Amino acid sequence: MTKSGTTNVRRLVVVLGDQLDYQRYCPNDFNPHQDMFWMAEATEESTHVLSNKHRIVYFLSSMRHFRDYLEVQNLPLIYHELSSHDTDSSLSSILETDINRLKPQEIYLKQPGDYRVRTSLIKVIEKLGVPLTIAEDESFLCSQDQFKDHASNRKVLRLEFFYREIRRRHNILMDNDKPVGGEWNFDKNNRESFGKKGPPSIPENQGTKPDKITQEVIQFVDARFPDHPGKLDNFNWPVTPSDAEAQLDRFIEQCLPLYGRFQDAMWTGQNTLFHSLVAAPLNLRLLDPLKVVRKVETAYYEERAPIAAVEGFIRQVVGWREYVRGIYNLHMPNYRTHNHLKAHISLPSFFWSGKTDMACMSSCLTQVLETGYGHHIQRLMVIGLYSLLVGVRPDEINDWFLASYVDAVDWVTTPNVIGMSQFADGGLMASKPYSATGAYINRMSNYCASCRYNPKESTGPNACPFTSSYWAFLDRHREALSSNQRMSMQLRNLSRMDDQRLKDIRKAADSHLHQL
Ligand code: SF4
Repeated sequence: MTKSGTTNVRRLVVVLGDQLDYQRYCPNDFNPHQDMFWMAEATEESTHVLSNKHRIVYFLSSMRHFRDYLEVQNLPLIYHELSSHDTDSSLSSILETDINRLKPQEIYLKQPGDYRVRTSLIKVIEKLGVPLTIAEDESFLCSQDQFKDHASNRKVLRLEFFYREIRRRHNILMDNDKPVGGEWNFDKNNRESFGKKGPPSIPENQGTKPDKITQEVIQFVDARFPDHPGKLDNFNWPVTPSDAEAQLDRFIEQCLPLYGRFQDAMWTGQNTLFHSLVAAPLNLRLLDPLKVVRKVETAYYEERAPIAAVEGFIRQVVGWREYVRGIYNLHMPNYRTHNHLKAHISLPSFFWSGKTDMACMSSCLTQVLETGYGHHIQRLMVIGLYSLLVGVRPDEINDWFLASYVDAVDWVTTPNVIGMSQFADGGLMASKPYSATGAYINRMSNYCASCRYNPKESTGPNACPFTSSYWAFLDRHREALSSNQRMSMQLRNLSRMDDQRLKDIRKAADSHLHQL
């Protein structure tokens, strides 16, 4: 702990681990003679789900770099470093102790993104009767009130309308009132696979070499959380704004031109392909989303990247990211508990080991368990798809996603998993479940080539669990999905299947479940 023992504190300004906004951390009327910053590393943040070591190191190292930045500015700060003896601290318990000790006249809290953290902090502050100011998190392009306005007169929410609103409001990729390139969405150009030849030359992910602080955190996390997944030998995530900016620049220069074309493609042993790797620094606020977007937009105007790649990337940052936050804030706390399809299978244990004979799952799981990273199509169309098809409980797969990815924060993960990937909200976010057979994975990757299963087979000893579970999924939810226009073709195909075949498929899907 630094700068302790202070009394007569007017205001304690809380900075959470995902609020490391170097531009906007300081309230306008902050007075260094009366006010203090407060930061804490708490055990609970690494253990309430079994966090990957990469995720723990990422948060702790980024926080310690931010602490040092405040200290260089000579700003008063209380910082609690996690100790190796600390087994059960929480942010609220540490804050409670400090409030009792310092007796501040006010707590200033930027709106926490994570509902769990938000409610636990507010509860303890209210219990102690200290006046609380909750400020809007201005690092987003869409305020909570703006999202509420957007949602207020709509029966259903869809990304596309929200995205257009943001593009217009912030004049992003706009040609007067028309979208640049004549279309709002170029996704049809962004679905190429690598084919049999495999990926073109992929730039090496140089990443950020760990400095002394990061190296210390790596050693600490390895010793303090030995049973958590993650191999830290190659930790190279950017932990400061300048490192994050360098990562963004490398992406724009080396990967953006091919990012769009191959954004849905996968290849064994190629972990990052042409993806940006900026979700982690964006989610900790080391990067400002609008600045990121302006840089990428400039690359298009300077003819360094095609419109489909640029638009596809920008849609993720100003469309999808802001949209999922809006949904989360509108619908928590109940959103986490949705289970529209009544999925009831417990998370298979191989999600924590990667040991399965499904080559696609083994490859994607092993990668994320070791590195804390997997790109969006591995998340949605391999791990998420499998969970949807076999019927893993949405709350369990949601916790697994939150624990496993270096960039995972609850307001991002929960809508993406509960809504988009598992359709557990019944269509509040996505217009249909993302369901597909092993044929999709076969088309978009080389996983099937080394798999003991055959993606084309849905029955028999070589039946691909994705393919048999796909038909079993449709069969199981025939009624629930029957009113969904976008599922009509898939359900028509199911209805053409003769009874014996369907019986055999159910048997194959059940037999896979029994092996779990
Ligand atoms: Fe995955 Fe099925 Fe392909 Fe095997 S055959 S890699 S289980 S999709």
